[in-house]
Parts: sequence; C-alpha cells; structure tokens
Amino acid sequence: MGRLLVISNRLPFSVTQDGEKISLRQSSGGLVSAIKSYFENDKESAKSNITQKIWVGLGDFTREEWKELEPDYERKDFEVVPLFVDPDTYSDYYNGFSNSTLWPLFHYFPSLAEYNAEHFEAYKKVNELFAETLIPVIQPDDIIWIHDYQLMLLPQLIRKAFPDALIGFFLHIPFPSYEIFRLIPTEWKRSLLTGLLGADLIGFHTHDYVQYFIQSVKMVLGLDNTYNTIHYQHRLVKADLFPIGIDYAKFRDATNDKEIISIRDEIRNNFSNKKIIFSVDRLDYSKGLMDRLQGFECFLERFPEWKERVVFIVNVVPSRDSIQTYNDRKRLIEEKISIINGLNATLSWQPVIYRYNHLEFKELSALYQAADVALITPLRDGMNLVAKEYVASCTSQRGVLILSELAGAASELSEAILVNPTDVMEVSSAIQKALTMPLTEQRYRMILMQKRLMDYDVFHWVNDFFEQLNLIKAEQRKMKVKVLDSETEEILRKHYTQAKKRCILLDYDGTLSPFTRLPADAIPGADLKTLLLELASDPKNNVVVISGRDA
Ligand code: UDP
Repeated sequence: MGRLLVISNRLPFSVTQDGEKISLRQSSGGLVSAIKSYFENDKESAKSNITQKIWVGLGDFTREEWKELEPDYERKDFEVVPLFVDPDTYSDYYNGFSNSTLWPLFHYFPSLAEYNAEHFEAYKKVNELFAETLIPVIQPDDIIWIHDYQLMLLPQLIRKAFPDALIGFFLHIPFPSYEIFRLIPTEWKRSLLTGLLGADLIGFHTHDYVQYFIQSVKMVLGLDNTYNTIHYQHRLVKADLFPIGIDYAKFRDATNDKEIISIRDEIRNNFSNKKIIFSVDRLDYSKGLMDRLQGFECFLERFPEWKERVVFIVNVVPSRDSIQTYNDRKRLIEEKISIINGLNATLSWQPVIYRYNHLEFKELSALYQAADVALITPLRDGMNLVAKEYVASCTSQRGVLILSELAGAASELSEAILVNPTDVMEVSSAIQKALTMPLTEQRYRMILMQKRLMDYDVFHWVNDFFEQLNLIKAEQRKMKVKVLDSETEEILRKHYTQAKKRCILLDYDGTLSPFTRLPADAIPGADLKTLLLELASDPKNNVVVISGRDA
C-alpha cells in the first residue's frame, strides 16, 4: 500500500481564540474520534503498510490565520491539506444542502428538509473544489478515503480524472429507506448516487443502510446488483457493512489514569449517595433530547422515591448554531430543563445538571467512569460512539446502558436496555430498571458488550475496510475488459489487411449472439450466418467458433 488520503468536510480541529492568540483544538464528532485514533497509532497504520497519512478538509480559519497557525501545527502523525471556501458558498453547502436537506432527510425528519437549488449548486461547487485540490496531490498508489454526506459527489469527480484510482467512501450517517430518499429532486438524487458509484467500495454502519442504498440505486438508476455488488460503467462497485468501532484500549486504559481517576472521584463526591445518570450529545434534533427529558420527568413522577437520590447530568455540545432549527432547539431544551428543575428541586438537590460545552477527553472519560447509567436515546443516529465509549469505560463492569433502538449501535449492543426513544413511559421504566439492576446482571450484560467492542475496535474497522477495498480492486482487475477504441480498431484493420494467413477465433454466446435467458433461444440469425460464410470464403482465413454447446 502507499499513502492514505483521508478526505472529510472539516479538518479534525477548529480554531479557538484566547485574547489575541488563536490556537487549534480537536473538534468533537464520531468521524474525527475514529480517524484520529487510527492516524495517531503508528503501529496500526504500519500493519497496512501505509507510508504517509494526509488529511484533506476545510479549515474553520482563513488562509491568513493558517499562516499563523501552521508553524504551531507540529503533529508528526499526519499532514494536513486545508481548503478554503468563501463564507457564502460554505453556508449554502454546509448549513444549506448538507445540513438542511441531506441531514434531516437521512435522519427521517422530512418535514425539516429544504429543497433549494442554490444550496445544491454550492454543494456541487464545494465538491468540485475538493476534486480540484486533490487532483494535483493524488499519486498512483494512494488509497483515497472519502468520508460522509457532505462529499457524496466527490468519488465520481476523482474517478473521472483517475480511472484506476483506489477510492473508498464511508457514510457516517444512516442511509434512509427509498421512500425517504425518493423525496430528493430527481436530478439531485441521480447525481448523489452516481457520485457515490465513483468509489470502489461504499461503507455503511448497518446491514439496513446497505440494503436501502442498493434499493435506491436500483430504483433511481435502474442498475442491477449481485448481492452487494453493483455493475456500473464497466466497473464493479461494492456496498458493504462496516460498523465503526472505537479506540477501545484508550477508554479502558483511561480507568488507570491518575488524573482522570481524580476527576472521576470529584464528580462522585459532588453527588455522594446519589445515582448518576448522564447523557452527552451534540445539540441536534436527531439526538432526541426533548423526548429524553420528558422520559426523565415521567420517571420522577412515577417513581418519586428516587427524588434527591438521583441526578441527571445533561451535556450538550454546541453544534451548527448558525442554523435556525438548532437554535430553536437549544431554547426548548433549556426551557424544559428549567421546568423539570423548577418543579422538583429542593434546597439541597437539583435533578438535572445542564452543561452546554465541549468536553475534552479526560473530563468525558471521567464522566463515563463516574456514571451509574448512560441514557443515550437518539431518535436516529448512524451509529453513536458515546454509547460504545461508555461501555468500554466500565472496566469494573458496573454500569447500565439505556440505548435507543434507532441508533446504529443498537445492532451490536443488544445487551443494553433498548428503548423506543419516543415512548416516554418506556424510557421512564428503563431508568427504573437500570437503577435497580442487580450487579450480577450489570456485569453479565457489560462483559458481552465489551467483548464485542474489543474484538471490532476502530483499528479493525479501518483494516477491514482496506482489506475489502483491495479485494474489490483485485476482482475488478480480473474482470477488466479492454474496450475496442478507434485507435486499436485501426491497428487491427491494418494487420488484417496485411496478413497472409489468419486464424479468427470467435466466442459464441455474448459475442456472435446476445445472451438470452434460455440458452436454446440464442439462435444464429441470417446476418450472422452470412457474415460467417463471407469470412470463411476467404482462403486466407481459418474461422473457428468457440462454444461450450454441442455442434
Ligand atoms: N465527544 C467529545 N467531547 C464532547 C462530546 C463528544 O470529544 O464533549 C466525542 C465523543 O467521544 C464521541 C464523539 O464526540 O467520540 C461523538 O460521536 P457520536 O457518534 O456519539 O455522535 P456524533 O456527534 O458523531 O453525531
């Protein structure tokens, strides 16, 4: 293998300002967590013979700011190629088509989806900008790995420039059922699908997402598939399932880190004699925070004996705050929390502790370790890494995960208490069940989930993806057809004319006669017979028809 180019909408860090000084800070999100772990682990990338790692994406800084930041960027783990887009185009591409069309639709919120032609134009423009930036960078042995819904047109744009490139694409969000996908205007949905089909391998988190994608390809483009393989423009393209893993060892080993242990103990001491329930998510309607709060409110009503004996720590990470729907959501959540606290708090107890900020790894890990229950109830989620990270952090096997059945992670974490996130009664009962679950049962469930997550961690995920990518490439090479272009035809004609003796070997089915469903129907027509007679009547020719059929 050669160099690995990871391409995502954003680089894995964003700018923070401290007085006059600007610096870089890691951004949160599943994609960043996963790929960064892989990039920072040299042993793992050496296994796949990756010689160099390069991350290509947009910066949230200007060209001038980058000049100031670049000397400080001393990480040796990977190089970065930042892209810059003017703010208006970026807003139409990111807040517009990506997050106000694709995101709501793919998360089953069609009523929030906007269909705006300018937004789609900006989406095309930014995908083209990525292609223009990448074309001079790409070398023949590179592995090109494109990530997520913001760059669905990019695989095909690169394929056009490099027909033999090794291109993988991974979708980190759900792929919706065809009934939802078909809502996208015709030309756009065709472009999105043909864009993706520029890749050799398209990865999804779950089996369902793979099937929905294949069905959409069939319905929109009329392309057939053999199992998970689609034939498109003389190439085989494979769609497959790769449930993203976490850096399991990192979360497990953090339970022995002195600094993290002291933060964990501080959290526990602050809430001594109380059970701790927590949730962490970006501010997003798909994360189901309003329903979750209602579930918790209902729990306090139905099981008042828990009052003053439980706290719910709600961490919300700021996200996409320039989109109105997100801002509205923040206000609603904060109102709801005030109502729950206002109705239930006493002078010495506040049921919901609300924080609106980004947590660094140490604090997040300490919270995972301190909590008795994780309440992770998205209305839809491609995967949900927080749920997996929580499980990996429970090294004492004490702790209960309540998980939405609508999160991709639910297919791997079936020992969690699975709930329908909109069912307030079910969520409240699940909280009661979690808080009263015997330790032996907690341990039993945790051990099974931990084993699965340890076996398929983020490094397995990446290596599995690369292995499949190489397999499909090998398959394509085997099937490679040399198309008869005009130049070759000319050479063939010249040789034919000049030859004194010719041996012409002709395949029958699929060559002289088209394939038919019943082999007996592939009867040679009059034209074919005349053609063969003419060829055979030339004394210089020896004509042979090759067929597995009887004479
Ligand atoms: N995360 C973080 N700090 C926070 C909240 C989340 O570093 O304050 C990380 C978390 O460890 C996880 C990722 O962000 O790896 C969130 O991924 P998930 O799949 O749960 O949700 P997404 O944000 O991708 O929808």
